[in-house]
Amino acid sequence: MSFTEKFNQIDLDDLKLRLYSKTQKDVDRALQRPERNLDNLMALLSPAAEDYIEQMAQSSVALTRQRFGSNIGMYLPMYLSNLCANECDYCGFSMSNRIKRVILNKEEIEEECKILKSWGIDSILLVSGEHETKVGIEYFKKVVSQVKKHFSHVAIEVQPLTQDEYHQLVELGLDAVMVYQETYQPHTYAQHHLRGNKSKFDYRLETPDRLGNAGVDKIGLGVLLGLDDWRLDALMMGHHLDYMEKKYWRSRYSISLPRLRPCVGGVHPKVELTDVGLVQLICAFRLFNPQLDISLSTREEAGFRENLLPLGITHVSAGSSTEPGGYLHPKTELSQFEISDERGVLEFANVMRARGLNPVFKDWEAEWVS
Ligand code: SF4
Repeated sequence: MSFTEKFNQIDLDDLKLRLYSKTQKDVDRALQRPERNLDNLMALLSPAAEDYIEQMAQSSVALTRQRFGSNIGMYLPMYLSNLCANECDYCGFSMSNRIKRVILNKEEIEEECKILKSWGIDSILLVSGEHETKVGIEYFKKVVSQVKKHFSHVAIEVQPLTQDEYHQLVELGLDAVMVYQETYQPHTYAQHHLRGNKSKFDYRLETPDRLGNAGVDKIGLGVLLGLDDWRLDALMMGHHLDYMEKKYWRSRYSISLPRLRPCVGGVHPKVELTDVGLVQLICAFRLFNPQLDISLSTREEAGFRENLLPLGITHVSAGSSTEPGGYLHPKTELSQFEISDERGVLEFANVMRARGLNPVFKDWEAEWVS
């Protein structure tokens, strides 16, 4: 059974009712368990858990240190292109936005690689808008081969590809793929994805299955928090994660918890996720899944990011540019969204050390091999 088939059997209204009916007794029970299931995750994401944030945070910190030590992996995104054939009303790259469109060529990518390497970065996330014809599989094959010479860990966040295309990229050294559903609520999804392939809810929902079948080592799930009820979207992501881990057990998993940020021509959150809510989310997922990678981008404000770090975060970016060529030519206003924490990699790494955390620049596997 694919996740889409499983998803179609879930009654979202009923799930939401159960989520909002969870009691403090349910939260207590979830916190006392040595291992937690989807019902426990529901309790930890519910409004009833708001009175338990401190207790959740303490358990989450302890579990994270037990599994990951003080280590937090450093990565940076490299935006390859802002060309996009989709209309997503929350994104600066939307096709109707009148911005200068760019595709990085081989030389420009090489220059960006050199800059990131000079900062000590060894893990890169290649990002692009979704344009099948001009920024498609042939382009990605060349880029993955090129950047793999510089970085031991290469991830992509691009349009959903076919299983065979993912497999071709794995053969070239691709390590991870991030594909975010944005929202698991079809009606809201349709409201925000107005034109292009991304408007096909089911095709996107099936993408992690194709990744699992293609043998991708790490698969990243995510929702754009604020498009709709974040508790329900997070719970559905938990269902998706649980399904993936059981079916494609050879892969590893990560989640990303971006809050909706302002962008060129963008929308404002329909359901605002507060800082406390984000803490609850991070802790709920750590308690649900102790080995899960949880990444934190520069969308969050500097001081708050520092406070979130010990709670359960395993991967963090710093000094990010969200525009193509943005490391070479900063601030050309081609950004996908505004970032909140503008501190550079080295400055942020020092902040982490001062807080007793260990910023990790090298990929473990690569270290073992060498
Ligand atoms: S969210 Fe992705 S697909 Fe949608 S407009 Fe932005 S870059 Fe394109």
